[in-house]
Amino acid sequence: MPAKIVDKDIRPAPGDLRIVQAFLNTVNHESRVDLLSSPRALADWLSAQGLAGPEVEFDAADLERTLTVREGWRVWLRSSPMASPELCERLDRLLTPIELRPKHHPDGALQLVPTGGGVAGALGRLSAILMAAQHEKTWPRFKICSNPDCRSAFYDYSNNRSNKWCTRRCGNRISARLSRRRKRRS
Ligand SMILES: [Zn+2]
Repeated sequence: MPAKIVDKDIRPAPGDLRIVQAFLNTVNHESRVDLLSSPRALADWLSAQGLAGPEVEFDAADLERTLTVREGWRVWLRSSPMASPELCERLDRLLTPIELRPKHHPDGALQLVPTGGGVAGALGRLSAILMAAQHEKTWPRFKICSNPDCRSAFYDYSNNRSNKWCTRRCGNRISARLSRRRKRRS
């Protein structure tokens, strides 16, 4: 099943990074639609992405932890490489204890996978995808939209890697806002 992105025409990132992108974009800050609105919705979404078994139950604490990681990762990605030490420590704490173990594949690939299930397993899998992506040249293209009302995760497919907006719509909206501001000043 393709990873669903809320209500936005954002092109998915390549490989497994699209799963992290879909996770970060389970909320649309503009329309306030959130796919992870309850523990049941969290279970359904993680199961649809293959990040949790269909029988796994989640509670309110699992949901709160997941949503805090989602927002924390957004801020961390946006402020990278100058994220605050406090944010980094908070994320570290939220993702503890999560254990990852090596998994060898017949094609020679070595992957880190979570040892447990539940919300820790799902967050572990997402962390492992982020870690693996940092060693690929795709990493600098994985960004958070600079429109402060949007903050969606997007993959910058532009040749010169200079895109700041998830979609042209966000770019146009910010340009219009800036030009209105300039007009008011002059
Ligand atoms: Zn945007």
